[in-house]
Amino acid sequence: MAIAHSLGFPRIGAQRELKIALEAHWKGELGEAELLGVGRRLRAAHWRLQHDAGLDLLPVGDFAWYDQVLTHSLMFGVVPERFRTPGDAPTLTTLFAMARGVSTCCGARHGEAQVASELTKWFDTNYHYLVPEFERDQTFALGWTQLFDELAEARALGYSAKPVLIGPLTYLRLGKAQGEGFDKLELLDRLLPVYGEVLDRLAALGAEWVQIDEPILALDLPQDWKNAFERAYNLLHRAPLKKLVATYFGGLEDNLGLAANLPVDGLHIDLVRAPDQFPTILDRIPAYKVLSLGLVNGRNVWRCDLEKALAVVHEAAARLGDRLWIAPSCSLLHCPVDLAAETELDAETRTWLAFAVQKCEEVALLARAATEPDAPAVVAGLAVSRAVQASRAASPRIHRPAVRERLAAVGDDQLRRATPFAERIEAQRARLALPAYPTTTIGSFPQTPAIRLARQAFRQGKLSAADYTEAMQAEIRHAVRIQEQLGLDVLVHGEAERNDMVEYFAEQLDGYAFTRNGWVQSYGSRCVKPAVIIGDISRPGPMTVDWIRYAQQQTDKPMKGMLTGPVTMLMWSFAREDVDRATQAWQLALAIRDEVSDLEAAGTGIIQIDEAAFREGLPLRRSGWAGYLKWAVEAFRLCSSGVDDATQIHTHMCYSEFNEVIDAIAAMDADVITIETSRSRMELLEAFRAFDYPNDIGPGVYDIHSPRIPTPEEMILLLEKAADRIPAERLWVNPDCGLKTRGWPETEAALANMVAAARHLRRGRQVAA
Ligand code: GLN
Ligand code: ZN
Repeated sequence: MAIAHSLGFPRIGAQRELKIALEAHWKGELGEAELLGVGRRLRAAHWRLQHDAGLDLLPVGDFAWYDQVLTHSLMFGVVPERFRTPGDAPTLTTLFAMARGVSTCCGARHGEAQVASELTKWFDTNYHYLVPEFERDQTFALGWTQLFDELAEARALGYSAKPVLIGPLTYLRLGKAQGEGFDKLELLDRLLPVYGEVLDRLAALGAEWVQIDEPILALDLPQDWKNAFERAYNLLHRAPLKKLVATYFGGLEDNLGLAANLPVDGLHIDLVRAPDQFPTILDRIPAYKVLSLGLVNGRNVWRCDLEKALAVVHEAAARLGDRLWIAPSCSLLHCPVDLAAETELDAETRTWLAFAVQKCEEVALLARAATEPDAPAVVAGLAVSRAVQASRAASPRIHRPAVRERLAAVGDDQLRRATPFAERIEAQRARLALPAYPTTTIGSFPQTPAIRLARQAFRQGKLSAADYTEAMQAEIRHAVRIQEQLGLDVLVHGEAERNDMVEYFAEQLDGYAFTRNGWVQSYGSRCVKPAVIIGDISRPGPMTVDWIRYAQQQTDKPMKGMLTGPVTMLMWSFAREDVDRATQAWQLALAIRDEVSDLEAAGTGIIQIDEAAFREGLPLRRSGWAGYLKWAVEAFRLCSSGVDDATQIHTHMCYSEFNEVIDAIAAMDADVITIETSRSRMELLEAFRAFDYPNDIGPGVYDIHSPRIPTPEEMILLLEKAADRIPAERLWVNPDCGLKTRGWPETEAALANMVAAARHLRRGRQVAA
């Protein structure tokens, strides 16, 4: 019998119950006892769903009040000093303080007594975890019993439960050493005894298996980290329960031998991301070990091709017999909960999709098929899967020859501007006549409650299209008036009409589908609902032209057109699995190229194409970087290069870890790039020591993530630093991201100071000249 199991289930709830409860608790509207009750009910419901779907072994420890890495930090006693109260054990309040920070006065971020731990992306997913903070003299001690309590809870409900832990090497690797000159790996020997205690206690509570996640085995690892694996697992070996080491998000590659031979009882591998490792692993896995095959994609919403997966299952079953386990590729945390809630999706699209619950059913069916290929349920399930694959393969909604033909016909001349930057910038300067240190913003202005209410009323049919348009035009007039009063040089319309920078465009493109409840946790109580790319993409008509034209009519200053780029559209959607990412990005690029052209024809002289997700598309392994960067850069060039010399293309990226990809960013050949630099104190500019960025650049001069109002002096300082590296005639002045999360008063105050800073620098230049 092959065992069917899952590595983890979404915790947020099919109706986002956890989000709602958490936010009510934070507002003081829901007591702690009630919150605990919501958690307990959700866990019970999720175990039940997985059990009913046919899984044999259910995960425990996948539930978290905010983030599973944070739960581990509490479990190991990794609580930074600023959150500790001497003598007191950490509480739920401690946990939320670490996650969200504690403010002392007026809720202002700069007034916070305790700044929250840093959030960062969990591998290449859109989930963000709280980075553990390690001190040089870090000690570890068991300090949080949640995992044990939840194991007892699952067992009391009668389930076969498998506790899930993040492994010691992955946990250390994800953390950050505070202070100079010490290596996190030195902490391993201090950390391992606590793991030993945890394992002993899980065994004492009756756990037969524990799942230990070591996804870093799918990364490029330094040799000392590789060596540490064997040492660590030799030490954990003696704990009296069986250990399954889980790897995911990629192939083991050079770590395959290491992973296969760790002194544990089982190994899980991701065969969705890395199907090629299958035959090799069969030869390398020792004869005593369980092999868990991740065959159902935990990162996407498509139904599994069961027939294809079954071929693998049969081959593995012949070799492994009872040592075969079947699972999703990774935790189901990264997909929505239940397709059953999608009652508004058209019937055909629905048959193509599978969310967490359905993925558990697929896993169960594959496991069963290993030994009972003729069971009626297996035969029926396979027939459905075959029919679904056939309907997708033949659907004219997916395969649109005109889109394919257009893409095939793209020539090199469509991938580059007609003239080099040095020439076209002259044409742009002549047309735009901007002062030195031109000021602008990144696109969005505050999304006020009034804007949200108007959009909601419009969507519910309570506000007519004409009234909605009028309301949004009033917002544009307001934004333009303020920008003129502030004296900004290049204006924006403010993006009031956009709910989200991806969904807004996706809704106007052919080839996308939308779910009503397809929420995925991003961090804490925050969820995202990515649109689904179901087929070849095209643009039926202009998407932004009317708004931008209207905005331009309100002012004599240049108005920037504002679009989202192809890579970001792709990265923040659920992508297709039947064609590669490059093809989808290029189809998006052609659609955006048409929009760029329409904007240009409508008289727009500056068009910004945001690529907020450009860097996060980088593959986890270095070996994948060049391939990705090539198609990603070309996708940007394809969407942006069809304009006249005098039309200026901007792009925007909201992070500063560019050093490794700076030449790719330059190769995008945008005339102007605006980037985040304020939080990193212009660290980015270090990159410009080694690399001479050729085009115009606007290093963000203040952090929009905080309501704090920066002074002109600090922005002048940052700009002077920038001017050391980048010729002043190529510098722009702007905040580091869009302003939609801010309020108007702080926005106006901050921008007034920003304009003052630019004016100051201009005067300095005149004096120097
Ligand atoms: N133009 C978008 C805005 O200003 C960019 C957002 C982003 O980079 N995430 O909101
Ligand atoms: Zn940004």
